[in-house]
Amino acid sequence: MVTSVRGSIHQGHEAFNEHSRGRQCAFMSLSALVFNQSADSVDLWTQTNIDDILHHGDRMYLHALSNEMVPDTDNLSINELPKVATSHNNAEYCLDYSKFYQGRIDRSFCDEGPFCSLQQGLMNAFSNSPNAMFVLDGYMMAGIKESEPFKEVLALAPTFSENVSNVTAAGKVVGIISSSQYLSCIKCNKKIEDDRSDIVACHHCGMKQMKETCDKSYYAQIMFQTEEKENLTITLFDKVIKELISVAGVTDLSGNSFDKLLLDLKNVLITYNKRTKAVSKVNRKVEQEKEVQGQ
Ligand SMILES: [Zn+2]
Repeated sequence: MVTSVRGSIHQGHEAFNEHSRGRQCAFMSLSALVFNQSADSVDLWTQTNIDDILHHGDRMYLHALSNEMVPDTDNLSINELPKVATSHNNAEYCLDYSKFYQGRIDRSFCDEGPFCSLQQGLMNAFSNSPNAMFVLDGYMMAGIKESEPFKEVLALAPTFSENVSNVTAAGKVVGIISSSQYLSCIKCNKKIEDDRSDIVACHHCGMKQMKETCDKSYYAQIMFQTEEKENLTITLFDKVIKELISVAGVTDLSGNSFDKLLLDLKNVLITYNKRTKAVSKVNRKVEQEKEVQGQ
């Protein structure tokens, strides 16, 4: 079944400032993604929600424009978008633009080539993240895959401002739901597809670089058992994991040593966001409450 909801206005409506009118689709798309994260999920949206999303996107765009955070042009590309977005209810999100797919909507190509069909592009995009941005003929749109609430944090790693509710829990890591380590581009920080050669080319910015000089990034979704025997599914992003690695003094994370590092977190105090379940701090309770990850 396909249902549709539309706003009472559109981006070119005269309710919007003449400087932003018709130019702010990228920010309206961003606004939609953060609204889905911070308020109601996409399947519950009403016409009022969509109007709110458009107005918030317009405000974000005007703010970025007046602070010269984006170029004053009619079309923005994805890499010109901000790395942090604030929702209408003041939750801050770090945006990690990872993979790009390109194709033609009137053709179907095989999976191997540089282009893919729209259907394959959608499938590829949603296999990495429930959030996607589509650019069709210069117009930017947001794509959101319906998912279980706690899994939504995959693409948007929130930063921790005063406005979000962080809570702490003592306990231990009892399982790893998923974990990954990947190489990222020295220039644009995007994920690099490892093609098993010494020299790799970034699919995003095109820069060729030695694989050995690429930075490593980490991600893990784990099950944490509190001292009250409650099981929490929480997410650890790159920054927190790098702190854990440095405190543990581990240099080689090949084989199962990455998983070992995570499963070794016993008797710890975690600080996490109540809604997104993203961890901002891991403190070991022994060793005189040694701080592992500061704000
Ligand atoms: Zn790059």
